This record gives sequence, C-alpha cells and structure tokens, in this order.
Amino acid sequence: MAKKKVGASQLRNSVFRIETARKITQFLCFLLFNAIVFGLQPWPLLLPVLHSIWTPQKTIGDAFSSLQLMLYEVTFPWLPIAAFLLTAVILGRATCGWMCPFGFIQDLLGYIKRKHSEVSSRTHNDIVKVKYGVLLIVLLISGSLSILLAAGIGQSFESALGAFASAPFDVLSPANTMFATLPEIVLETRYTIPYWLETGEDILGAIVNGVLAKPLVFWLQLAIMIGVVVLGMYIPRSWCRYFCPHGAALAFLNRFSFLGLERDPVKCTKAGCRSCVEVCPMKVPILELPWEKFTDPECIYCLKCVSSCTTKAIKPKFP
Ligand code: SF4
Ligand code: SF4
Repeated sequence: MAKKKVGASQLRNSVFRIETARKITQFLCFLLFNAIVFGLQPWPLLLPVLHSIWTPQKTIGDAFSSLQLMLYEVTFPWLPIAAFLLTAVILGRATCGWMCPFGFIQDLLGYIKRKHSEVSSRTHNDIVKVKYGVLLIVLLISGSLSILLAAGIGQSFESALGAFASAPFDVLSPANTMFATLPEIVLETRYTIPYWLETGEDILGAIVNGVLAKPLVFWLQLAIMIGVVVLGMYIPRSWCRYFCPHGAALAFLNRFSFLGLERDPVKCTKAGCRSCVEVCPMKVPILELPWEKFTDPECIYCLKCVSSCTTKAIKPKFP
C-alpha cells in the first residue's frame, strides 16, 4: 500500500516536472517571438511554427507564411523549405509541442473544459487527413500563381485571387486573426478614442459603424477563429491534429526525424494499462507502433506519455 502511494506521488512529480518545463518553454517562446514589444529587434530566423506575417510585433519569421510570400514574389522558397527540413529531421514535430505560439494557445484552451469530447479512432483517422488537403490547396494556389507570374501571364489570376494572392493561407489563418487582425482593431480604436472624445463623436455608434463596415473576409476570419477556439476547448489540440498546414508538413517529415520515442516491451504492462494512449493529446496509437523507436506523424513530443507511464517504459530516443 505504502509502495503504491510512493509510486503515485513519484508519477505526479514526474508529470509536474515535464509539463511545467514544457509550459515554461512555450510561454518563453511566446514572449520571445513577440519580443519587439520589449524593444528587441527582429531576428533573421525562420521557424516552422504558426504565427502570422502581418503581426508587426513578431521577432521571428513563420516558415509557411514566408514560403507563400516568396512564391508570390516569384522567388524559389529555399529558406523556408530548409527551415522545415532541418527542424523536422532533427526535432520532428517537437516545435509543435514546445515552441509554437498557436500550439501554446491550443494547450491553454484545453484547460478550460475539464471533460473533453472523445473522437472515435475511425473519425480521427478520417479527419486527420484534412490538414494535408489544406496544405495541398495552399501550395497549388501559391505554386501555380508563381509559375504563371514568372511566365508573365499571371496578372488576371492574381486579380481574381484578390486578398488571397500573396499568402492564401494566412488570410484565413486563425493565428493571423488572433495575433494580427484583432490586436490591430483594438489598437486603432484605442488611438481613435481620444480624438472622438475631443470632437464629441458618439463613441459607441462609431465603433459599431466601424465593425459593420468590415469586409466579408473579416467575418470569415472571425468565424474560423471562433470555431477553432471553441473546438480547442472540447478536443485538445484539434487545430493541430486536423487542420494546420504547418503541422501537415511537419507530420509528413516527422517519420524521418532523429528524435523519436522508444517503449521498453519488458517494462510495458500493455494489456492492463493504457495510460500513455489515454493521455496523448494527438491520439497516437503508441501501443501499436514499433517499440524500438517510433516517430509517428502526429507525435508532437510533448512527453505526456513518458511522464504518465508508471513503469517508465517510454522514453525519448535520439537518433
Ligand atoms: S500543428 Fe500548427 S498550430 Fe499546432 S503546434 Fe504545430 S505549427 Fe503550431
Ligand atoms: S506519443 Fe507521447 S510525446 Fe507523442 S504526442 Fe502522444 S503523448 Fe505526446
């Protein structure tokens, strides 16, 4: 009995240690990536994390946004491709678990509701492919526009795309709405209020009129962001699992990653315990994967499975 109590408290300590280290890293990355507000200069660094090209206060570049912009400027996007390849080969999708600002938001949303909705394996396996579709559509739009512009015949396609021409994904990205569009509206309103006060304008009316005058694309952005936020409260990391094109590119490359996990088949009490599978936010079928080393496309290396294992059967493996 006493032994059992010690085991449970050791497990709690281990969960606490890893999860706290991860949360601190995510929070520091969130601050660091937006550290222009603290006077830091932007860094010449591209990372495969979901941010927004239109966030003025960011210090790092988001590789997928840069890829779309470079294609639009008819330049081969070798830097963003290198950022994806290098990160994924060394760390797999660990940037999703430890660094991505929108991944951090997704984790925080998961804390709002205590009881989460279960997605059946069959539904999960079907909708997990949606993110590859999103990635493919964006690459097709940006790639074909780039080729047509290079050939000097892309102008009509470009005007047909309108706001979607330069970065088709970012226009509707929930990260863009959260980190760029909404803060911009708040800042604009904050700076205009003193002027309205001076001129005796009806402030509430002016705000309502301003919001109503927003274009259709704004309402679409807002609806997508709200949908993603609400879904994130019920299904942990739902955006990362099912819709993120960054996640899709990294998931594809994750299987070639040096970083992986191993499960000791002697220590693992597979039949009587599924705590690693139950705790996994990405629904990785851990017990069905090769025990020597697994680098599942969906694994974000959050290490929740490592800390939840009472027999310490799972641990990171590199290379
Ligand atoms: S899947 Fe996308 S949003 Fe989620 S952590 Fe990875 S890059 Fe960020
Ligand atoms: S398999 Fe483990 S490390 Fe990977 S996402 Fe699931 S819980 Fe996190």
